[in-house]
Amino acid sequence: MPHWSHLLRDVPGFPRPGIVFKDITPVLADAAAFAAAVEAMATPWREAPPVAFVGIESRGFIFAAALAQRLGTGFVPVRKPGKLPAHTLHHDYALEYGRDRIEIHVDAVPPGAPVVLVDDVLATGGTLLAALALLRAQGADVLGAAVLVELSALDARARWPQGVPLHAALRA
Ligand code: IMP
Repeated sequence: MPHWSHLLRDVPGFPRPGIVFKDITPVLADAAAFAAAVEAMATPWREAPPVAFVGIESRGFIFAAALAQRLGTGFVPVRKPGKLPAHTLHHDYALEYGRDRIEIHVDAVPPGAPVVLVDDVLATGGTLLAALALLRAQGADVLGAAVLVELSALDARARWPQGVPLHAALRA
């Protein structure tokens, strides 16, 4: 277990009764823990960095931007609907109840450019799979994905395509 694992906080009943939310903000607030977490997420990509780390709104932005600075790459945001100002591509995906949409600027990633997807927590995997579909539709070469925490019990890996590396700094 990484030395910062005790800084992940379980918050029962958020955002709804019956859910135990993993709060990562104590990791961000601790200088050594934040640095170690970003280092752990950067390590798999250091030999052959992507052109950009693609962060998923909103906590994915924090880690993708830090990774971009660490490895000298660009940062690209994937956002909720209506937030990006220029021409966008979108991808709709199913939630447990209803649907959701994510967007990216059409020109954010050059065709064929290698990118890595980034988020804070991998739960069911729906969000990361939607981002993978969006980036592929845009023509990017998705090298893989990096998350801070993978909630192993939800088994998102079973739905993630084999052959696309998925690295978690911590499995909880
Ligand atoms: P998934 O689509 O079910 O994998 O959920 C992942 C998305 O929801 C990510 O963007 C996370 O930021 C957020 N998320 C889901 N569960 C948690 C949690 O327990 N803590 C923090 N974020 C979560």
